[in-house]
Amino acid sequence: MVPGVRLVVLGKQGAGKGTQCVRLSHHYVVPHISTGDMLRAAVKTGSALGVKVKETMDRGELLGDDIIMEMVADRLSEPDARARGFILDGCPRTTHQAEVVAALLLPGALDLTVDIEVPTAQVLRRLAGRRVCTDCGTNYSVTTPPKVNWMCDICGGEVIQRQDDTEDAIRRRLDLYERQTAPLIDWYESRQQLAKVSGTGSPDSVLRRVIRAIEERRGRGQGR
Ligand SMILES: [Zn+2]
Repeated sequence: MVPGVRLVVLGKQGAGKGTQCVRLSHHYVVPHISTGDMLRAAVKTGSALGVKVKETMDRGELLGDDIIMEMVADRLSEPDARARGFILDGCPRTTHQAEVVAALLLPGALDLTVDIEVPTAQVLRRLAGRRVCTDCGTNYSVTTPPKVNWMCDICGGEVIQRQDDTEDAIRRRLDLYERQTAPLIDWYESRQQLAKVSGTGSPDSVLRRVIRAIEERRGRGQGR
């Protein structure tokens, strides 16, 4: 069995980060820990955390670091993550969160933070073509629609373009992401924990690049 990995994956919306995280989690047999997925699941099940999350969002406020970090700390302490590692997606978003994550991993450390880079023009094209099921959240696109009449293949729900997927709104989100993430990229770079990987091309070729970056970092990238 391939050894596990402790990985943070960064990438702007539309860079294919979610897809790569799922594939990486299969390849390395470690959990894909997505803060977005965990928050949505918590809201859906109505857990104590979910109620707190929903109240915060209903007030139009941003979730505090404390809620996110408590959730991440809990998940990282579970046996699967402790034994083999994890693919961390959606956290850290700030250098403060990065410091907390680093402290949680002591005496160990991350193997690597991978930044999946895709040119903004390409991301805009991808996101503007994106369609989503209103019921279960499955993603489609104008090039990969559901089989029948914009009805979800999985649940039969209506597949639409989200209102916040207009080009202006997407561009604003991408700008905000770059501004927020720049210090985080610098933080990991200064600790020699960052690998920038091109996210262009097929999902398979991106996955190969990410795996190569990880193996090179572990010092046995030869021959791959
Ligand atoms: Zn659906």
